[in-house]
Amino acid sequence: MIQLSNLSKLYESKEGNVQALKDINFTVEKGDIFGIVGLSGAGKSTLIRCINLLERPTVGEVSIDHIELTKLTSTQLRNVRKNIGMIFQNYHLLSSRNVFQNIAYPLELIGMKKSDIKERVGHLLCLVGLEDKAKHYPSQLSGGQRQRVAIARALATNPKILLSDEATSALDPITSRSILNLLQEINEKLNITIVLITHEMEVIKQVCHRVAVLKDGEIVETGLVTKVFNDP
Ligand code: ADP
Ligand code: ADP
Repeated sequence: MIQLSNLSKLYESKEGNVQALKDINFTVEKGDIFGIVGLSGAGKSTLIRCINLLERPTVGEVSIDHIELTKLTSTQLRNVRKNIGMIFQNYHLLSSRNVFQNIAYPLELIGMKKSDIKERVGHLLCLVGLEDKAKHYPSQLSGGQRQRVAIARALATNPKILLSDEATSALDPITSRSILNLLQEINEKLNITIVLITHEMEVIKQVCHRVAVLKDGEIVETGLVTKVFNDP
């Protein structure tokens, strides 16, 4: 479903160049939870941002359902991106909008009718277990609740792919586990393919089917989690 071929990323600046990614190749199958793990600075964030072209690779190709993204016009790319939701470590919620309004935001952008938005947001609130928090503002929520709002917002337009950029890194272990359980439920029930990046091996072991280990911009190991981390 997602295919990265010969992908490299060079950041160029006056202070010096950084080869953030070197010849990355992997395929994420439909329905997978695919984890990318590595130390800080390994290139994880650059890599996940290349999947929806938030970052342009210097060399190489990114294909989703056999469509080569780097060749698309900006309008075509916008359409592809509707199928890709994203969540972040810092939630990126709009603090001036309440929970309902945050989740409704991407639906307003695509011009959905008010009554349909109400129904859709109600459904999403149920999915993430925040039915009673619709009128709360982000500042009134715990970290785990904020991430649930972000997940609901990312799923609002019914994407086929969810990208997770260290979504549980700011959370305590118990809350982290509950968010990972929610991601697992979303993967299974809604058949959404998930690509996540993390510096925590535990996250990979808890939810991922496949893993790629990134070191200094290169994939040093990839395969089924059960094979790569074959604990005795
Ligand atoms: P990770 O997410 O694994 O911590 P990053 O993808 O953020 O890794 O960074 C990989 C490397 O690229 C690091 O050396 C980082 O300093 C560098 N880098 C990341 N973003 C930029 C940028 N916009 N300009 C220059 N260098 C960058
Ligand atoms: P919180 O930690 O309270 O959830 P964030 O750190 O996510 O807040 O957001 C910081 C600021 O950036 C807020 O004022 C918020 O309104 C703004 N912000 C966050 N995400 C976006 C976005 N996607 N577009 C515009 N502004 C945003």
